[in-house]
Amino acid sequence: MVHPDYTHAVQHALAAATQGLAVFPLARSKLPALRSPHRDETGPVTGPSPCRGECGRLGHGVYDASSDPARVRELFAAAPWARGYGVACGRPPQHLIGLDLDRKGAADGMRDLTLLAAAHDFTVPLTRTVITPSGGRHLWLSGPVGLVVSNSVRRIAPGIDVRGSGGYLVGPGSRTRAGRYRLAPGTAYLPPAPAPAGLLRLLAPPPAPPTPSAPVRIPTGAGRSAAPLVNFVLGSVQGERNERLYWAACRAYETGHGEVVADALVDAALRIGLPEREARATVHSAARRFGDYAIRARISDGR
Ligand SMILES: [Zn+2]
Repeated sequence: MVHPDYTHAVQHALAAATQGLAVFPLARSKLPALRSPHRDETGPVTGPSPCRGECGRLGHGVYDASSDPARVRELFAAAPWARGYGVACGRPPQHLIGLDLDRKGAADGMRDLTLLAAAHDFTVPLTRTVITPSGGRHLWLSGPVGLVVSNSVRRIAPGIDVRGSGGYLVGPGSRTRAGRYRLAPGTAYLPPAPAPAGLLRLLAPPPAPPTPSAPVRIPTGAGRSAAPLVNFVLGSVQGERNERLYWAACRAYETGHGEVVADALVDAALRIGLPEREARATVHSAARRFGDYAIRARISDGR
């Protein structure tokens, strides 16, 4: 016999799918109902599987999510123990962003959001809102195309978790161990409101720390002058890049290391912004001018 909470979840999930939201079945634990087909491949060495459904099987959590009713039915048919559904965030067309406003102990996400709004000069929009079994609230907002909102826990405020790209929200109509998720009265027919600009500035991922680019690799056997030649190229400013590259390549070929150092010199030239074609042509003309010279020198040296 089909469990009424299962039927309820399927109906609500399908209704969400018809609004363009991507959904997938959840167990009572709020975790994806379908287990990963890669669970036995995961280990301390291999780490979690990088597969996001490319293998064609079900069980990739939020990556299973779909707004195609046939696919949603298929997912639920494979998980008769499902009691709820997740709504994927960050997907077109809504680019859903979830604000999870806690209401536990001292945490008061709604108060925190009001304070943030005052401090950052935005208005909390009236939008679709889900009430959680613990009395917390999920505000559903839509984000702009192209903005990747990262998931965060208590980053923007102590009582606020953010669900963005790769995250999901427990859909209204779901039953979990804690109880039922339901729509806040009066918000059921509201579409997710556009997230205000002042809030988006807080949600955008923090800028990545500058990654120092790896040093130009100088092959072994390149001779003692190779590193200074590479640095000579790296130190060029616009307008002298080609001359300096040519000079360095000539010195390399002159000393018989041209073939070994050529790639490192081209690499250095690319880093200062010379197009690869141009850099290779320059190194090539140095080779034509001094390559033979080096070979002749080697022959006369008896090498
Ligand atoms: Zn897979």
